[in-house]
Amino acid sequence: MDAARLDPGPGIRNGAQYLAGLRDGREVWLHGRRVTDVTAEPSLGRGAHTLAGFLDRQSDPPNFERLTYVENGRRFAMSFLIPRLQADVARRGAAFYEWATWSHGMFGRTPDYKNASVMAFAAAADFLAQGKAEFADNMRRYYEYVRSNDKVLTHTLVNPTFNHAQAKEGKYSDKVALQVVRETDAGLVVSGARLLATLGPHADEIEVFPSTLLTASPENLPFAFAFAMPVATPGIRLICRDSYDHGQSHYDAPLASRFEEMDAVVIFKDVLVPWERVFMYREPLLCNRAFAETNAVVHMMHQVVCGKLAKAEFIVGLLCAMARATGKDKDMEVKGQIAEAMWIAEMVRAFRYAAEGQAHADQRGNWLPLRRPLDTSRNLFPKLYPRLVELVQLLGSSSLMAIPCEADFDNDLAQDVGQYFQTLNLGSRDRIALFRLAHDVAISAFGNRQALYERFFFGPQNIMASIYFDLYDKEAMMERVDSLLRAN
Ligand SMILES: Cc1cc2nc3c(=O)[nH]c(=O)nc-3n(C[C@H](O)[C@H](O)[C@H](O)COP(=O)(O)OP(=O)(O)OC[C@H]3O[C@@H](n4cnc5c(N)ncnc54)[C@H](O)[C@@H]3O)c2cc1C
Repeated sequence: MDAARLDPGPGIRNGAQYLAGLRDGREVWLHGRRVTDVTAEPSLGRGAHTLAGFLDRQSDPPNFERLTYVENGRRFAMSFLIPRLQADVARRGAAFYEWATWSHGMFGRTPDYKNASVMAFAAAADFLAQGKAEFADNMRRYYEYVRSNDKVLTHTLVNPTFNHAQAKEGKYSDKVALQVVRETDAGLVVSGARLLATLGPHADEIEVFPSTLLTASPENLPFAFAFAMPVATPGIRLICRDSYDHGQSHYDAPLASRFEEMDAVVIFKDVLVPWERVFMYREPLLCNRAFAETNAVVHMMHQVVCGKLAKAEFIVGLLCAMARATGKDKDMEVKGQIAEAMWIAEMVRAFRYAAEGQAHADQRGNWLPLRRPLDTSRNLFPKLYPRLVELVQLLGSSSLMAIPCEADFDNDLAQDVGQYFQTLNLGSRDRIALFRLAHDVAISAFGNRQALYERFFFGPQNIMASIYFDLYDKEAMMERVDSLLRAN
């Protein structure tokens, strides 16, 4: 069967169906060799099984009401729901949040993130028709395909920087960047590299969209496009970073052993993209406007704020548990330290509810959470998450290093470990488990990658900040300043 076909499916999938779909001959490279089956590969498989477990939860009938919706007799993930009513925005937010709690926000790229974007593009497909009428139909068909087959998507938006000055001018190097090398009757042929597909090895489909700004020069036309392809397309090759799942037990690596979502550079070698999978082409300025004018960025930010809330809450819980272990939770100084994490969590909660509570109809009559609180959150959280990590380090100190492994409870060290690692409120086994978790948040390679992810996954902070500045409604505030000066 042609994997690029867009046949509709029956609706939500369970974990076993998802895992079966990943055994499709995709070209994934890890640790110097090609992976034959990502679901069975020791340092990739557990991440896939975690995601399968999430899809099983979504497929569990008691959860249907909260996590799915029914349309024309088929059941779909809530993240595909086009919000036609104000209440739909809150329903979507509740489902995003619940998904995020399953990983405590540590599996950042659950499928609802990309589903939110595909939903938004399909609901605003008229925008794509400005390029070509067929592109709008392609997107509507693609949305139907993705939601009715409950496909898991990744995306890759960024060309590798070859020359910073050139990139700053909105141009790309034909030596490295993904570009159209040929057009045929069947579609576009593309070659080059893209950064960075989080979840790539575990995804069914990869969206290749524009995000970095392109100037409308003739030499940019081959770089201006949007399309989506199955990961298992011949010519698509994923080059993974080192895995942070080192095969340790859940006790030893509580996060890395569960939530390794993997990031991969994506190489395209003469990949044929059928026309029905193309959504934009040779329109740099349209590409630049796409995420904003379809509201995809707002719906994605909505998923993100709900996930960051779950993550910040988890760190608060962790800090409180760490403090309680030795009775530090009775100390005024320590309470004050942890209160800072609580403020961060409450700030994110306020952003979420401010956006949902002020949801409004968009230009097409669909409902949209208010952009500004979400945008504020996406600009602040990349700066606040590293502070949360720092708070774990400051409170944890040497306890983050005093972490024998699970095997030490069964070897010659067992008596020492049982004796010398206890604290006022925790026996050794529970104390070590807690601080191994803190280590996985704040010290391990897994934890450090989380911090890097928060800093960058939505784009460079300076560019997001400058967009924020441009969109901010400044006039009334400046007018107040002017009026005071006029009164001088
Ligand atoms: C863990 C992780 C996961 C990611 N997952 C994905 C994903 O799934 N899909 C995806 O598409 N992308 C993903 N990304 C990539 C992310 O979008 C980029 O990292 C981000 O857009 C920054 O681009 P860059 O990495 O090329 O860095 P650069 O553009 O090189 O920026 C790095 C630094 O250079 C400076 N700089 C860059 N541009 C300018 C400028 N114009 N003016 C002034 N200074 C500048 C800034 O100091 C900036 O912080 C991921 C990144 C990480 C780290």
